[in-house]
Amino acid sequence: MKNLRKKILPKENMMKSSDILQQICCDIHNENCLLRKSENCKSNEINFRDFKENYIGVYLKWQTSKETYRDKNGNQKTFQKMNKDVIMVNLLEMGDLLQNSVNENAAHVGRVIHQHEALKYQKENLQFNVAVIHMDLISLHTVVTYLHDKNFQLDMPYTIQSFCTLSDCLDHGVHAIWAHLKPILKTLSGS
Ligand SMILES: [Zn+2]
Repeated sequence: MKNLRKKILPKENMMKSSDILQQICCDIHNENCLLRKSENCKSNEINFRDFKENYIGVYLKWQTSKETYRDKNGNQKTFQKMNKDVIMVNLLEMGDLLQNSVNENAAHVGRVIHQHEALKYQKENLQFNVAVIHMDLISLHTVVTYLHDKNFQLDMPYTIQSFCTLSDCLDHGVHAIWAHLKPILKTLSGS
């Protein structure tokens, strides 16, 4: 990034990805702009400074490679290895790569905003017989549930409950997630 900034990025202090988003979107909180669908800004590109297109730039990229090893019985096995490789490209290509990854990042931010808005709408418009179940398997809590609050107050029309499930099984497949959800769904349907 240091290399990029010195060579091709505009002179303004542009280091964070949000600075670049600000340059290509008219509103970085607007889903349409971020998904690059807005007529106003969808053709905006990063304002690169003048640079020598054939100059070589360097960046680091995570990518996988297939490696082999021999197991204890002498059989050859393959496995995928993650590497942080040094990639050399000319600056023109580097600019295109950056523009593409900025577009992907903008779309990602747009989807996060969309999901946040959709979840907020669902929570605030809960029917008495509907539950919103928010799963985030990264933390210890399997899910957080939002239920319609009978005695609801204006600022929070739902009740929140966290559930934590434990298992000896370390499987993270879809079937395992459903196995964790089963007792939670059972508890919810009883309440
Ligand atoms: Zn826009």
